[in-house]
Amino acid sequence: MLAQAVFGFQRSFVRLLIQTFAYLWASPYTITGVAIGLILGGRFRRVEGVIEIAGPRIAGVLDRMLVPALALTFGHVVFARSQEALDSTRLHERVHVRQYERWGPAFVPVYLLLSVLLYLRGRDGYRENPFEREAYDVEDSCR
Ligand SMILES: [Zn+2]
Repeated sequence: MLAQAVFGFQRSFVRLLIQTFAYLWASPYTITGVAIGLILGGRFRRVEGVIEIAGPRIAGVLDRMLVPALALTFGHVVFARSQEALDSTRLHERVHVRQYERWGPAFVPVYLLLSVLLYLRGRDGYRENPFEREAYDVEDSCR
């Protein structure tokens, strides 16, 4: 009984340490995302440990991107054009949050490098990017 309680505590503590490290590892992007959200004046909400920001000025920026998007993830921040877009893309964007937690500061450079390499080979740098394929696979498997 005592051993179970001790092991349970240790497991919870290790999980907390890993989650804390994941937040710190992704924090350069999360801090940048919060700053962008403040500048663009979006509506902030915290959902399952992730900051979600939506608003018309964010929609304007997402429309002007190279690949126009409904939503975009920056560390533990998800931008979307509207609350409806946040709701409909949550599963996909949460996969990107987990990717930021794994890759930390390397995520964006590696993502962009893979996209460029795919484009140079005449492939779809967005849909065939392994990070996007993982997000779409998870999204598809839950439908
Ligand atoms: Zn994606």
